[in-house]
Amino acid sequence: NVKAEFIAVGTELLLGQIANTNAQWLSQQLARYGINVYNHTVVGDNLYRVEDAFSEAQSRADIIIVTGGLGPTEDDLTREAFQQISDLEIMEHTPSMNKIEAFFEKQKSTMTPNNRRQARVFKGSEVLDNTVGMAPGMIVKYEQKTWIFLPGVPREMKQLVKSDVIPYLQKLTGNEEIIKSTILKFTGIGESSLEHELSDIIQAQSNPTIAPLAQDDSVVIRLTAKDRSKEKVDELLKGTKQEILAKVGSYFYGVDDQTIESQIVALLKKENKHIAVAESLTGGMLTDKLISVEGASSVCHGGIVCYDTTVKQDLLGVSKELIQNKGTISEECALVMAENVREKLNASIGISCTGVAGPDEVEGKSAGLVYIAICDDTGEKFVEKFNFQGNRNSIRRRTTLKSLEILFK
Ligand code: ATP
Ligand code: MG
Repeated sequence: NVKAEFIAVGTELLLGQIANTNAQWLSQQLARYGINVYNHTVVGDNLYRVEDAFSEAQSRADIIIVTGGLGPTEDDLTREAFQQISDLEIMEHTPSMNKIEAFFEKQKSTMTPNNRRQARVFKGSEVLDNTVGMAPGMIVKYEQKTWIFLPGVPREMKQLVKSDVIPYLQKLTGNEEIIKSTILKFTGIGESSLEHELSDIIQAQSNPTIAPLAQDDSVVIRLTAKDRSKEKVDELLKGTKQEILAKVGSYFYGVDDQTIESQIVALLKKENKHIAVAESLTGGMLTDKLISVEGASSVCHGGIVCYDTTVKQDLLGVSKELIQNKGTISEECALVMAENVREKLNASIGISCTGVAGPDEVEGKSAGLVYIAICDDTGEKFVEKFNFQGNRNSIRRRTTLKSLEILFK
């Protein structure tokens, strides 16, 4: 049973200027692969204190992972400190040096001498190619202990852990299982109802494990499967996904990086349809969501933010009579907004929302009352009334999300 520990080097961590997210992320990764982490240490950019932290780790752990202090500046002391305790020789790593020089060449900027510092490695170490930054990582064997030095920048550290460190540790510990996760995303159902619907499957889980969680207004389920064979892992994930979708497939909208808006854009593209948006209280949020998707230009004609009543009248042709009789926060107004924006922007689908974001009442209607209408060029139309809870911005966010949900269905 190997003992691992983690040392983060950086005064900014001690000052609380940044959180030690490297420790959290790394520990989660190691736990997934069955490697026990016994200590987290944070030490400032001070040669003697880093040396002390290293000596202590050398005396008690089998695997020591260090992040930070590999950069070009004088306060990057990780190599120097390890040299002090180990007496290992430091040399320049030619491939890394070439890479750094090529980078400066390409940027047409001059390389300062201290940039050479980043290409220095311990003689005899396994050098880990940093594909997203300058300083390479290193794996060093020293008196039966394994030291793994990684850059402090989280993105670089994560990349090296995935590509090099995990496979190395799996070999070292004889645990060569492959672990893979996928995320299933749902909308229109709460976390507890989803868990309830799936309780049989969740209770019987072992491989893959099934973890429901709430994430940015959606409910997601993370499936994690392990096996020594990649094909088997894929098969396990696929089987459980099918089981889950058989029960709650009607709320499902995508996996992993897919968002509800990216799925809507894909659907519209497939059906060769175009959309136009009229939004009042959401002030452009809905159009923004749609346009944030790559390729939205081929399906989204645009949107009109008709926040003020006069804009609803002048730009969208909502009649004075309708406003006098029914008000702007009404089924009727929402429907006219959707139909007229569709026509004006020459789209096949029109969607609109109008409501009270709050905190004050409007037209005697209380905050959270929202109407969302949708119509298409075949004459089909639909409007729905909602009472959302929360403060002004959560009402606006919920309206946007609900509109997307309606569009997706
Ligand atoms: P660089 O080449 O950028 O100097 P480095 O290996 O010397 O890299 P540091 O200078 O220690 O690393 O850290 C670079 C940046 O990475 C820090 O400013 C900080 O934003 C981030 N960072 C460092 N350590 C951690 C940590 N433990 N958790 C989260 N972020 C960190
Ligand atoms: Mg640095």
